Amino acid sequence: MRIHILGFPSIGKRREQKQALESFWDGALSVDALSATCTELKKRHWTIQKESGLDYVSTGDFSLYDRMLDITCMLGALPERFTPCLGDAPTDRYFSLARGNAERDIAALEMTKWFDTNYHYLVPEIDSDRPWTAGTHPVVADTASARELGFSPKPAIIGPFTWLTLAKAPRGVLKWSRLDAVVSAYVNLLTDLAPFCDCIQIEEPVLCTELLPDDARGRFHEAYATLNAACPKLMLTTYFGALGRNLQTAVGSGCPVLHVDMVRGRKQFDDILNALPADTALSLGVVDGRNIWKINYSTVVPLIRQAVSALGRDRVLLGSSCSLLHCPADVTEETELPEHIRNRMAFAVQKCAELSALRGIIENNDAAAYAASARPAEPHPDGRVEAVRERVAAVTPDMLSRRSPYPERRAAQAWLSLPPLPATTIGSFPQTDAIRKTRLEYKRGSISEADYVAAIRSEIRNCIEKQEQLGLDVLVHGEAERNDMVEYFGQQLAGFCFTQNGWVQSYGSRCVKPPVIYGDVYRKHPMTTDWILYAQSLTKKPVKGMLTGPVTILCWSFVRDDLERGEVCKQIALAVRDEVQSLEKAGIRVIQIDEAALREGMPLTRDEAEIYLRGAVDAFRLASSGVEDSTQIHSHMCYSEFNAILPWIAEMDADVISIEASRSGMELLDAFTEVHYQGAVGPGVYDIHSPRIPSEEEITRLLRRALLYIPKDQLWVNPDCGLKTRRWDEARPSLQHMVAAAARVRSASADC
Ligand code: GLN
Ligand code: ZN
Repeated sequence: MRIHILGFPSIGKRREQKQALESFWDGALSVDALSATCTELKKRHWTIQKESGLDYVSTGDFSLYDRMLDITCMLGALPERFTPCLGDAPTDRYFSLARGNAERDIAALEMTKWFDTNYHYLVPEIDSDRPWTAGTHPVVADTASARELGFSPKPAIIGPFTWLTLAKAPRGVLKWSRLDAVVSAYVNLLTDLAPFCDCIQIEEPVLCTELLPDDARGRFHEAYATLNAACPKLMLTTYFGALGRNLQTAVGSGCPVLHVDMVRGRKQFDDILNALPADTALSLGVVDGRNIWKINYSTVVPLIRQAVSALGRDRVLLGSSCSLLHCPADVTEETELPEHIRNRMAFAVQKCAELSALRGIIENNDAAAYAASARPAEPHPDGRVEAVRERVAAVTPDMLSRRSPYPERRAAQAWLSLPPLPATTIGSFPQTDAIRKTRLEYKRGSISEADYVAAIRSEIRNCIEKQEQLGLDVLVHGEAERNDMVEYFGQQLAGFCFTQNGWVQSYGSRCVKPPVIYGDVYRKHPMTTDWILYAQSLTKKPVKGMLTGPVTILCWSFVRDDLERGEVCKQIALAVRDEVQSLEKAGIRVIQIDEAALREGMPLTRDEAEIYLRGAVDAFRLASSGVEDSTQIHSHMCYSEFNAILPWIAEMDADVISIEASRSGMELLDAFTEVHYQGAVGPGVYDIHSPRIPSEEEITRLLRRALLYIPKDQLWVNPDCGLKTRRWDEARPSLQHMVAAAARVRSASADC
């Protein structure tokens, strides 16, 4: 029985890739040194896989920035605006696509969430019918070098149907008319790869969604026939759910192996066994690539045995459910976690070992392997707090509603005396080295609490002064005390614990270290009031309290698997509600509850999405509704393809929402023409993920555009997201232009 994983986290257990990339961008590292670090990491990861006993090591899982972008570059599918970059060195051109080109004033490709994960990919743009000039794909060289080093590589590439489905094209450009051209580029890639490997993982996660258009589905078998003819080694790889109505499409692809997600798609297991053609092998993704808990052998082993008895051992492979990109590298790096928590955990390295143990159990009834790796049967009693369970059970419907409907609240909030088109930011300001150093020193105990508070206060003062100078209308304290918007709250809530090195890639060089929810969650003490009150004491303008919402805390944490997610979410919502009420009581009357992850947490199929959205919206309402009408509740959401869920956003009943919009040229505002949205809306007017500084004219244009969809008295002005990844010399001029554009549009529309 062959065992394998769908990909290993590329970033390195000490985030070596991140450091190398950032030094390269800063000009401190040469391109050769960057690639030497990457080569070293790849070798290390291949060695781990081989030594764990996996039959293949994964190539093509390692990307300089993003695997979707790697395919885009292979196809040569560069949008017109990158034409000036064509003569650049390939690495420079590649990073211009990923991060924009400030010198030439070219915006980066749009970035969005990879299905329902917190990984972000670069969205392909097919902006015209121009032919493309094909490029190369790094997986070929990587696979050749793995082979040369004596590994047995399995290249992992994103498939043509997923690439095309996720590509965006303006009206009038028919992206599916490119299918034949795309398939023939894949034929070339597969032909190049074939000499170096026995199996190629071609990923079509789109088959686990409802995104694939019918006519594209109708062409799937024909396209795969072409690919299989070029290379009879394909493993059609699906993940992130069941195949649903794409089951026949997947089992009939003609690929010799089909990989299915047995963590999220288990309900279709019997159907797949029945439908699988006799010449097709089945790879069962039984080890969860998206969580950190040890596998539960007692639920997985019977499943595998069933597959073996139906198909025979030679036709069964065992794998991870998806790439291990979504989990951290190695539990043995964690020396400070309580034993009772750590011995329930498995990160990427341990998941490789679990696969090997699983094979031992199935093939040899290897009890020792089982005993060595099984997780303790019962969760630790620490995790259960009766008072929390009772409070959740006692939530009543009136706790989910504000006192009055929006129009009355709006009138009650007039005391804020804000101008039309109020200008604000999303919360964080540049996180300077000095700030990071302060936090680190405090964490290490090398500065006293008093010194720490003084240092953060001075950052807050600086931040308030700068915002006053810029002329923003609703100020923020800047989040200098926060390393991360979820971690900060997790550190103060009961039920959370933290890893030292549990980093997961979010995009490019950005990593997050998700907190771990292992027990019942409740608020032990106020978490933000001191900082916000200090900020408010420095200005007459309103300061917005800044909290992270329950859904986002849940989505960006690793969540216990012994309690329903919905229950965990309600526990967090009650804790946030407590904080909202503390802020209000202390006199903070504008409060933002970020639900950055609301959209990304949405399941991939309609039925599951409805259930999720109801729960998510209710959790937000539970967190936000315990305040007076005169208190203004904001929410912020990132990367939201809102169009379909705007009615649910309206259901959240926030007074003001801010949303990502600039990268897509405000196109999401279309949705506002269909749904009557009564609250205030701040569509982000510039992209904070790029160092590029937007001009006043550009922002003015976007605001005018927004006014076509959103009435003037409902429009707010803000960037796309928080500014913590930017430098002050980027943030300051950008905000200057933003405030000036707001003023210009304000006075122009006052004239008419
Ligand atoms: N308030 C947060 C910030 O500004 C929001 C970040 C986010 O939406 N991801 O950093
Ligand atoms: Zn955001």
